[in-house]
Amino acid sequence: MSAELLAKQQQYFRTGETTSVKFRLKQLKKLKEAIESYEEQIMEILHEELRKSPLEAYSMEIGFVYKEIRFMMKHLRKWTKPKRVKTPLTHLGAKSFLYPEPYGVSLIIAPWNYPFQLAIAPLVGAIAAGNCAIVKPSEYTPKMSALLKKIISKAFDEQYVAVVEGGVDVSTELLKLRFDHIFFTGSVPVGKIVMEAASRHLTPLTLELGGKSPAIVDETANLERAAKRLVWGKFANAGQTCIAPDYLLVHEAVKEQLLEKMKHYIREFYGEQPETSEHYAKIVSERHTKRLVSFLHQGTIVHGGRYEIEQRWIEPTIIEGVSWDDPIMQEEIFGPILPVFAFTSIDEAIASIHRYEKPLALYIFSENHRVQQHIIERVSFGGGCINDTLMHIATPYLPFGGVGQSGFGAYHGKASFDAFSHYKSVLKQTTALDLSIRYPNHPNALKWMKRLLK
Ligand code: NAD
Repeated sequence: MSAELLAKQQQYFRTGETTSVKFRLKQLKKLKEAIESYEEQIMEILHEELRKSPLEAYSMEIGFVYKEIRFMMKHLRKWTKPKRVKTPLTHLGAKSFLYPEPYGVSLIIAPWNYPFQLAIAPLVGAIAAGNCAIVKPSEYTPKMSALLKKIISKAFDEQYVAVVEGGVDVSTELLKLRFDHIFFTGSVPVGKIVMEAASRHLTPLTLELGGKSPAIVDETANLERAAKRLVWGKFANAGQTCIAPDYLLVHEAVKEQLLEKMKHYIREFYGEQPETSEHYAKIVSERHTKRLVSFLHQGTIVHGGRYEIEQRWIEPTIIEGVSWDDPIMQEEIFGPILPVFAFTSIDEAIASIHRYEKPLALYIFSENHRVQQHIIERVSFGGGCINDTLMHIATPYLPFGGVGQSGFGAYHGKASFDAFSHYKSVLKQTTALDLSIRYPNHPNALKWMKRLLK
């Protein structure tokens, strides 16, 4: 079934129809219109499956995608043009160009935490770059998966873009096929499986993975702003955000003050009873809730700690006194629980981060420019913010992606176009002249080559 669909898309891709700029612009417009016509249902399902508030649903899923589409449409003509680059003297008479070309048929595998945005935003890049695509949404948000299928089939013929629904079995079958490019968003262990499958066909891939993203607050930080932005970044979508601060490192001298302020903002954002708050999301499944609840027995709870497993609900929680060896520090938390560690010097904080793989995100709260620079120079991470959380993901001018175990490749804005493109290097030589020293019959060829290639 999937094999037939892929064959159909490959055949359609070879007609060349998907590559004209006019076609791409038309498809992006169609996608936007299809989303607009289903906007209410998208919001409803995001609320039903994850209890996302209208503000979160719109700003982090739907509005985000509209912005990406608009940005692509605005710049596409410029990006698709062959780019002239310099040519060295050794190539006298020639000109050099970079021709962006689509890979062909892309496979996009998406997770459940931003089930709309993380399926559609990569697709925007695939379309802009001139590819066909098969999108595989997550099985943990089945209603959104079905809606994505509806939206995509309304906008596109399946020979161009199609949604294939299903879980691990369907994903496994898709990964056996020979796609021209794979774009995977999900966990590190599954990322490894995807990369192994891609290696069988030498398929180029983009891996958008996760990990343990730290937040650091030093003694110079603006604590009011830090507390507010940390609470927002950690507890949006109940902590089920790939770039949410996973754990907090705070200078001993300001720890108590910061925690008091964070408690204040948790109450201010979600009320005294967050279980009834319209602004606070649910955990995706009972299984995921149980995994998170098991973390609550580690360390000492500073704030929160209540939960209702059947309701898939966990209170925004801050924990202290956790050890680096506790299970909560052995995997990505991906939920509304924040372990806090005190440090006395920035190098101690950096050493703690180096216990782990390179994180997807890192957040620094400090008014000290030298401290900010020191951390950026010493720690490798995908991307992040100084004095904020999450916001680096929401600009088309900053490529978004990981490094090391948090993934490779990047997207958003021009980076999305690049992620789905191959840049073909072409040298255009003149026939008007012919530099003869490269030929074996030139009497002083070697002498001249030595001079030229010094
Ligand atoms: P996941 O890896 O379990 O699943 C992602 C996708 O892979 C789903 O569509 C799923 O059906 C498929 N899949 C699962 N197991 C598979 C297997 N064995 N073989 C083939 N396909 C398989 O991830 P998740 O639980 O949906 O999402 C959470 C993870 O994703 C977290 O680690 C989070 O950090 C990460 N994430 C990363 C980003 C990013 O942009 N870097 C964004 C969101 C989530």
